[in-house]
Amino acid sequence: MKHDILWLTSLFRLFYPHYCAVCGARLQDNEEALCSECLSDLPRTPYLLSNGHLVERLFWGKFPLGRAAAFFYYRPGDSYAEVIHLLKYKGRSDLGCAMGRIMAKELAVQGFFEGVDVLIPVPLHEKRLKQRGYNQSERIAAGISEQTGIPVWPAAVRRVKYTETQTQKTAQERFENMKDVFKLNMSAAELQDKHVMLIDDVLTTSATLTACADSMKDIKGITISILALALAGH
Ligand SMILES: [Zn+2]
Repeated sequence: MKHDILWLTSLFRLFYPHYCAVCGARLQDNEEALCSECLSDLPRTPYLLSNGHLVERLFWGKFPLGRAAAFFYYRPGDSYAEVIHLLKYKGRSDLGCAMGRIMAKELAVQGFFEGVDVLIPVPLHEKRLKQRGYNQSERIAAGISEQTGIPVWPAAVRRVKYTETQTQKTAQERFENMKDVFKLNMSAAELQDKHVMLIDDVLTTSATLTACADSMKDIKGITISILALALAGH
């Protein structure tokens, strides 16, 4: 019986955006993606507590870094991991926008987006984009944009190399695997003196975002900030 109820809850979360993505409770009119209780209990990272906290440290010395943060901890098996699972593997692209808006609302209060000119989502390879039908990082960026008014340039960078899933690889292997994966898809002049913010879904090692930043780090006057919806393995 309990199993049947769990199964039904999963089914609701899958097809009905009007139910909380974590606990399955029906959402009120003033709630989106998560019910108030799950939103309040979201395992947020201590991104606002100090300068140079754990996420920033991952990128120090690698490129001209502005700010870096991730919103909440991703722990496999945790009920909040379901948000990422639905977004990445179950077609719930609406969760990307909604979580982008929620995250941006909280970070904007702290001045996290001040001076940022453009949001650039980490691109998917064409093959994966076809399989999934949307780029989840682009959906997150769209939500942030709605909240902050900062434009999204989804085609600024291309993923030119297809990489298999990285979960079984060591950190060193991930960095090697990500070499030359991304290529700038616009003229460097268009990004000169710009403050860009790269948007990703889950930050594990810094390999993917560093590789993406590599494609633009030598542009004159560029500042690169990082924002991921979730932080894994920390
Ligand atoms: Zn809930």
